[in-house]
Amino acid sequence: MSIDVDICEVGPRDGLQIIHTFMPTAAKSAWIAAEAAAGVREIEVASFVPPKLIPQFADAGEVVGTARTIPGLAVAALVPNHKGAVRAIEAGVHKLSFTLSVSESHSQANVRKSRDEQVAEFRAIVASVRDLPADQRPMLSGGLSTVFGCSIEGQVSEADVVRYAVALAEAGADDISLADTSGVGDPAQVRRIVRAVQQEIGGKPLALHLHNTMGLGLANVVAGLEEGIRAFDSSLGGLGGCPYAPGATGNIVTEDLVFLLESMGLSTGIDLDRLIHVRDVIAAALPDEPLYGHVQHGLPKRWHQLRGGFNAAAA
Ligand code: ZN
Repeated sequence: MSIDVDICEVGPRDGLQIIHTFMPTAAKSAWIAAEAAAGVREIEVASFVPPKLIPQFADAGEVVGTARTIPGLAVAALVPNHKGAVRAIEAGVHKLSFTLSVSESHSQANVRKSRDEQVAEFRAIVASVRDLPADQRPMLSGGLSTVFGCSIEGQVSEADVVRYAVALAEAGADDISLADTSGVGDPAQVRRIVRAVQQEIGGKPLALHLHNTMGLGLANVVAGLEEGIRAFDSSLGGLGGCPYAPGATGNIVTEDLVFLLESMGLSTGIDLDRLIHVRDVIAAALPDEPLYGHVQHGLPKRWHQLRGGFNAAAA
């Protein structure tokens, strides 16, 4: 099957990082396996941060190890620094997702380093990856956070966004990911920033990581699509948030994203009905966490029936 748009599920990382209830390792692995079985081909399964800081990810190595046994699944993990990258490489991830915050205040709060120190950290990771035998090198994603606004600083300089995108691209990132960590971006801004970055990063692929704080997440996806973006992060049930982005809510909902794309005739390779059932795995393990989304209300089947009916009537 040819895939038009790549979806990376980030729930097991972004979704769990602000949840203080420890999700049992077996439940995390069941969640990941069920999503892979629904057709999701890339999952960010953990964050390699010090367990003292976020105990939720104390089992990151084990989660990666189990996820790696799933055929065809690309296993990604967030790495905020070189030390985390070394651990993630040892665990055997297929993709390292590095993060640099374009807001200096957020960078200090999140990783206790300046933006320029993070560029140096990224270069050290690139060097470690290049030391590996060619067939063992993980993909290296250069992620920028707080691209569309910061809950600490407010507006973020678009010139800085471009500057740090170029810095990570030149340092050796395989792709660049732009994150709306606070969920405050709008479609016009997405178009403008995506264009500005695309012009300067020499043809490297660009991905979007969107949060839905102001309810514009899917509108921002459409703006990204119109600018040629074909890779998006999302979270099952819309879980997610950043401990250092006060007020921000979860990621765009994977189920709703699949529905949007498939409705527009763009293939994701994901079976929406099976995906919706994966919500039960999370609900069972984390019964106190609210899950968001629209299409889980039995709508997809009805929608397909209605759409079929309309098309038939028109013909
Ligand atoms: Zn996020």
